[in-house]
Amino acid sequence: MSVNTDKARSIIGDIAKVIEEQKQYLSDLDQAIGDGDHGFNMARGFEAVTRKLEEAPGADIGEVLKTVAMALISNVGGASGPLYGTLFLKASGAAKGLAEIGLADFIPLLKEGIAGVQARGKAVVGEKTMIDVLVPALESLEKDCAAGLSGKAAFANAEKLAAQCMEKTKDILAKKGRASYLGERSIGHIDPGAASSYMMIAAISKALD
Ligand code: ADP
Ligand code: MG
Repeated sequence: MSVNTDKARSIIGDIAKVIEEQKQYLSDLDQAIGDGDHGFNMARGFEAVTRKLEEAPGADIGEVLKTVAMALISNVGGASGPLYGTLFLKASGAAKGLAEIGLADFIPLLKEGIAGVQARGKAVVGEKTMIDVLVPALESLEKDCAAGLSGKAAFANAEKLAAQCMEKTKDILAKKGRASYLGERSIGHIDPGAASSYMMIAAISKALD
């Protein structure tokens, strides 16, 4: 796996596309256990991301990710805006000056990003949030990287695991965010943020060659 700045921009474009296509589905998930805005929030955010990257494409991966972060922070409402904003902002810090990354370089970006989300949102695995997908995906990538797998193979595994972890959020009682107000009634529904995180990992996986 080798992702240069152009490829990074194109992967962000793939993520924007899937979020746009799935915005109704993501909002339907949120309708069941929240306020029904997750997909529309995210689609508005990634629309701004696309616009901002056209205006200022960025000279390296760090700059691209920073533009993504700022656009999400200012355009996605709700809990997920600042959380995804933080994910990309921390990742951008770790990617500062990098024009090309492989799997081993990607891992610290995701790690820093997740640490930022957890510092801000205080969620751990098992509370029915995006963290339930992001943390296992990171661990899977780390394990496969250490075992010497290619980026493509590692992402294929991470995508599969992320899909399972997203499905598993159905069985979990929400402990964080709006869905936590529902208590037991949050059980039986996929967490919308877990679903959007899965979509991002799947988009990266599909884009790798
Ligand atoms: P809101 O709940 O404010 O309407 P969204 O609907 O856009 O915001 O996003 C909801 C998603 O945000 C949830 O499905 C969950 O994955 C994620 N989320 C909420 N609170 C937290 C938290 N403290 N830590 C991590 N993720 C969270
Ligand atoms: Mg919501």
